[in-house]
Amino acid sequence: RTFEDAGLHPVMLENVRLAGYDMPTPIQQYTLPAVKSGFDIIACAQTGSGKTAAFLIPVLSQLMGKAKKLTAPRPNPATFVKGVTPGVRAEPLVLIISPNRELATQIFNETRKFCYRSMLRPAVIYGGGPIGDQIRQLEMGCDILIATPGRLIDFINRPNILTLKRLKYMIIDEADEMLQSDWETEFNTIMSGGDQEQGNINYLMFSATFPKGARNLAKEHLAHDHVRIR
Ligand code: AMP
Repeated sequence: RTFEDAGLHPVMLENVRLAGYDMPTPIQQYTLPAVKSGFDIIACAQTGSGKTAAFLIPVLSQLMGKAKKLTAPRPNPATFVKGVTPGVRAEPLVLIISPNRELATQIFNETRKFCYRSMLRPAVIYGGGPIGDQIRQLEMGCDILIATPGRLIDFINRPNILTLKRLKYMIIDEADEMLQSDWETEFNTIMSGGDQEQGNINYLMFSATFPKGARNLAKEHLAHDHVRIR
């Protein structure tokens, strides 16, 4: 099956073409229809399989159809005063959690490519980067948030910065890498965050291996009828 067969939003189809992708990779063959049908996904995927585009293309395409209604209100940049946090919080529609800064940056760059000519705005936050700059980036409007776990929790714990209330998709990339660093408890906190309306969020988990921690996480949060891709 081709990208044309996948029923993508025309803007996404054009962005896929601009990226130079001719045919979906095997993992994309499965994720494109599964995301479109609203399934949660657990996928065994190595780097190089096209896994990043496997979640970005169908998820962003779904949102493009509804972007006008969904995107967060844009603050007026003129109201910003340096060093003062305005009351506007980031309310992303998609949260992509990635184990490290390098991967997060890579995902961010791919996301920018696929958001081209759409209303969707991506932002990236990671440990080691300047917090002030990252907060300002979020305040400019953030529909797709790519984050490393430590910085994400830091931001969630700060008042008036980030809320997951409007989240539609939660994507965990390289879950096994993150669970090695004892993030299981934190993930459970994030994934079942008190202010999320349960049942409204689609979960997509990608991992090279599925150790016990990753299986537990999946068991606890993925819908009963999720799709497994190997
Ligand atoms: P990833 O597995 O996400 O690290 O992707 C590996 C590389 O494959 C990246 O450089 C992508 O841009 C590229 N890629 C992903 N999907 C496709 C596709 N359908 N056709 C050609 N290249 C692709």
